[in-house]
Amino acid sequence: LGPTVCVGEILVEIVATTVGDGFLEAQPLVGPFASGAPAIFISQCGRMGGQAAMVGAVGDDDFGRVNTDRLKRDGVDISAISIDPAYPTGSAFVRYRKDGSRDFVYNIATSAAARFGWSRTVGDLIDRTGHLHVMGSALSVPSARAVIDRAVDIVKARGGTLSVDPNIRKELKLDEDTERRFSKLVAMADLLLPSGEELERAAGVEGEAEAIRRLFEIGVKEIVLKRGAGGASYFDSQGDRIDAPAFLVQEVDPTGAGDCFGGAYLTCRRLGMSPQQALTYASAAGARNVTLLGPMEGAGTRQELDAFIASTERRP
Ligand code: ADP
Repeated sequence: LGPTVCVGEILVEIVATTVGDGFLEAQPLVGPFASGAPAIFISQCGRMGGQAAMVGAVGDDDFGRVNTDRLKRDGVDISAISIDPAYPTGSAFVRYRKDGSRDFVYNIATSAAARFGWSRTVGDLIDRTGHLHVMGSALSVPSARAVIDRAVDIVKARGGTLSVDPNIRKELKLDEDTERRFSKLVAMADLLLPSGEELERAAGVEGEAEAIRRLFEIGVKEIVLKRGAGGASYFDSQGDRIDAPAFLVQEVDPTGAGDCFGGAYLTCRRLGMSPQQALTYASAAGARNVTLLGPMEGAGTRQELDAFIASTERRP
């Protein structure tokens, strides 16, 4: 029915190699790494062997080329990524604190990532899109939001499917309009991929069981709840549930695990695999990804995940 498409921010991430608070002193950094939650997700779709395409923008600079080269290598169609001649590629500097929380310095609002719009190339792609994946984070970028709104209607009208990763940082307070758009999107989702407390936020009610019940009531078809090292759980509207324990790995950098997990899960399902098999690949993609520094350096191709699954124990 056509490729999986993701619309949203493409960034480079630059990571501090020491743990501590913020960036007030000069310190060793590594990067640039290809990043942006939507880009990480769609790269994993490509690495799993699914048809995948990305809509977004980069600047005419090396940070942009780090991303487009990487997406292309992963098998993603990059023809609807525009190159902005006037604005640089977005960037995020990240440093982990001792307690596991992170400090960020972002350049998104004044980057190419915040300036792309609908074009003929985007329209042609959306007209043949089989599945659209929406990240909550993209909704707070007005340019991406406008493209997503239009794309959702077109894809749904021609019988395509939609997945939503709420992916909205807890600290981020949405304005009323964005909150309303977000709720509308959630209700249209064939697949919802929340992690932790995003489940309750998406449902607007407290308690896991209550949130799941509510989400099925408003029209969601399938939910996969991500629980970090605690694994993941699948729920469907028929009342089935499958719990997938996490793989036992040494966590180096948790960034991107959920996006790799989601890209792998969705692609496996679109390739016709059962929820159980999709959960295995997705859990492997998430776990393998946290073993290396950088938002998507660890998660592998389908062959690499097969080898990882065969050689890695599950957490008890
Ligand atoms: P998000 O990045 O969206 O918050 P999670 O952190 O829950 O998502 O990670 C997604 C999935 O990746 C988890 O459900 C789990 O399967 C896997 N994963 C994440 N962190 C680890 C870890 N430390 N060890 C093993 N698996 C992990």
